[in-house]
Amino acid sequence: MVPLSHESQRSDAYFSLLDRVSNLVSSSLETEEVFVQLLDMLVSGLKVDACCVQLLNPEKQKLTLVAHRGFTTEMANEVGSLKLGQGLIGKVALTGEPLMSPDVAADPNFVLLTPIQAGFRSFMAVPMRCGGKILGVLGLYDRTPNRFTEYEGKLLSAISACIAVAVDRAFPLHRGETEKARLISSISEKQEFLSALSHELQTPLTALIASAGLLAEELEKEPSDSRVRLIQNVLHSASNLQNRLAELLDLSQAKTAHFRIRRKAVDFSALARKVAEEFSPLMKEKGQSLVMKVPATVIVTADEQRLEQILLNLLANAVKFTPRGGQITFRAKEDKADLIVEVQDTGPGIPREEQLKLFRPYYRIPADRHRFPGLGLGLAITKQLVELHSGKIWVESEPGKGSTFAFSLPLVSSKAK
Ligand code: ADP
Repeated sequence: MVPLSHESQRSDAYFSLLDRVSNLVSSSLETEEVFVQLLDMLVSGLKVDACCVQLLNPEKQKLTLVAHRGFTTEMANEVGSLKLGQGLIGKVALTGEPLMSPDVAADPNFVLLTPIQAGFRSFMAVPMRCGGKILGVLGLYDRTPNRFTEYEGKLLSAISACIAVAVDRAFPLHRGETEKARLISSISEKQEFLSALSHELQTPLTALIASAGLLAEELEKEPSDSRVRLIQNVLHSASNLQNRLAELLDLSQAKTAHFRIRRKAVDFSALARKVAEEFSPLMKEKGQSLVMKVPATVIVTADEQRLEQILLNLLANAVKFTPRGGQITFRAKEDKADLIVEVQDTGPGIPREEQLKLFRPYYRIPADRHRFPGLGLGLAITKQLVELHSGKIWVESEPGKGSTFAFSLPLVSSKAK
């Protein structure tokens, strides 16, 4: 028997850890018990000295320590409640980006004292994200400096994505009890069913994507290996499926108060250019041209991620329904207190009687149902998102003459072009 290399033994151990975490998350255990078992698995599977889970309360903008392993009492007290943005953990919750510190004792951004007093040196934290929301932070500590690798960072992100699904399922509203009770009674059965279903499907899918991602990395070390292409196909299709599920979840949650938008000043023009850029390879492939008529700088007060989703949905439809060689015009203009955004295409156009129905969930023009992929949810979600921003959405179209999907967004301040 050929002995396994240290590298592949490590990968095997990590794959099995991910597998155990995903089974744990799919179990019917209470969330507290899931945390306890998870942290035990992390300590033994990754051989780290300490780890913790902190959950974010978005209303209070605070992170609360809900479970830990290997912490001293002083540490548990110090990190018991942290402000959003405070120190490395707070920063991870604020930005949604993982952070690693090879030596906290020498890191000016590491603001906690007790972990240093307890002899911890390496630190790594990843956000717990579910459907675009940040629910908390998963953190690891070790007494050896420079202990964590980028590979372990990816593994921890994969684990954290699995856990986030369980957290979102267990604390769906992430709110106080009275509001929770009020909202639960107001959510229709259908929405609850959709939400439960998409959560159920997300758990195994997240584990599948994480495992396929790690496998792809292993295989990419041998780029000539034909399995590289196969695993990339698996990843691509699984990510597509995950996006569809995120749509279902968005729709089931959009009508409830736990679908929150976080407004801040957003450079709309830069965002529009970024989104247009994302479509450029696909448009090139279809021989389509894009005309951008967006002012050089327009600042709006919006939730940047959700605004991006609105633009992505409208542009994706324009590209999808416009034939080869067609033209898409992406326009934005200020109109009194609003910004009006238009995505115009030279596609088939939409009969008048269909136009209003398009914004209903699951509605698709009959002729398109077998010709194009889709669930008929994109426009329904886009409408919800626009309305959450106090805007309006509409379509102007005539069969044979293309369509213009437009929305308004209250403008707070703008600069000269
Ligand atoms: P999906 O595209 O996933 O089916 P949407 O809610 O985004 O879902 O769109 C619903 C339906 O509206 C589409 O199936 C299509 O019939 C029609 N539609 C959307 N955008 C366009 C467009 N730009 N041109 C023509 N028809 C469109």
